[in-house]
Amino acid sequence: MDPHKIMVERLVSMGIIKSEEVRRAAEAVPRELFVPPEYRDQAYEDRPLPIGEGQTISAPHMVFLMDELLDLKPGLLVLEVGAGSGYQAATIAEIVAPKDRPDDWGHVISAEINPFLSSLAFENLKAAGYSDRVSVLNIDGSEGFPIRRKADRILVTAAAPSIPEPLLNQLAEGGRMVIPVGPVRGFLFGQDLLLVVKSEEGIKVEKVIDVAFVPLRGKYGWS
Ligand code: SAH
Repeated sequence: MDPHKIMVERLVSMGIIKSEEVRRAAEAVPRELFVPPEYRDQAYEDRPLPIGEGQTISAPHMVFLMDELLDLKPGLLVLEVGAGSGYQAATIAEIVAPKDRPDDWGHVISAEINPFLSSLAFENLKAAGYSDRVSVLNIDGSEGFPIRRKADRILVTAAAPSIPEPLLNQLAEGGRMVIPVGPVRGFLFGQDLLLVVKSEEGIKVEKVIDVAFVPLRGKYGWS
């Protein structure tokens, strides 16, 4: 069986992939196009891989765990802080802007603070056929995004000192944010993966699991 299919089946049997939408996204996006050529034979192993500049593409189980927590639907506007390879943005685009439903104008805007990785994400997304559904911006995403409407979903893929205020303000009522919070100190200290739900009653924050992400940089990141 092909390694891509095996990866998806394994994540389904582990209970990481729960919904039909996330399963479809996991099957649709070729992860081998988002890892450096020298790691292509390991593209469907369930672990993070180096993408340059000391950064990593997240392990598939982390990508799809976060996609499930975001509760994605066609038509949503999703902001991502930390484009990295562009892989997770592509999986989100598969759900919010599916190719077979051209009238659902969902979109992903992904911020990447590192100029090299910002270009890498753009090139990877273009090569994989997502440049019409994902925009990559070379900005500090911790400060919020240069758009005038609020986002339905926000995903942060680097660990923040706390939930950045500008991102919380940019989240629409009824929206969800998934963000790792905590220090980066080798394997000694864990970070908390938080699910933030904004409703008319206010903001509810729930810890999901312990995680280990690279540090968020920028104004609301670690110095
Ligand atoms: N989502 C990525 C993995 C990202 S790793 C993927 O699917 O491959 C985290 C990324 O966050 C790194 O590329 C890092 O450069 C970026 N980053 C860190 N701080 C940032 C900030 N303030 N704004 C935007 N990107 C940031």
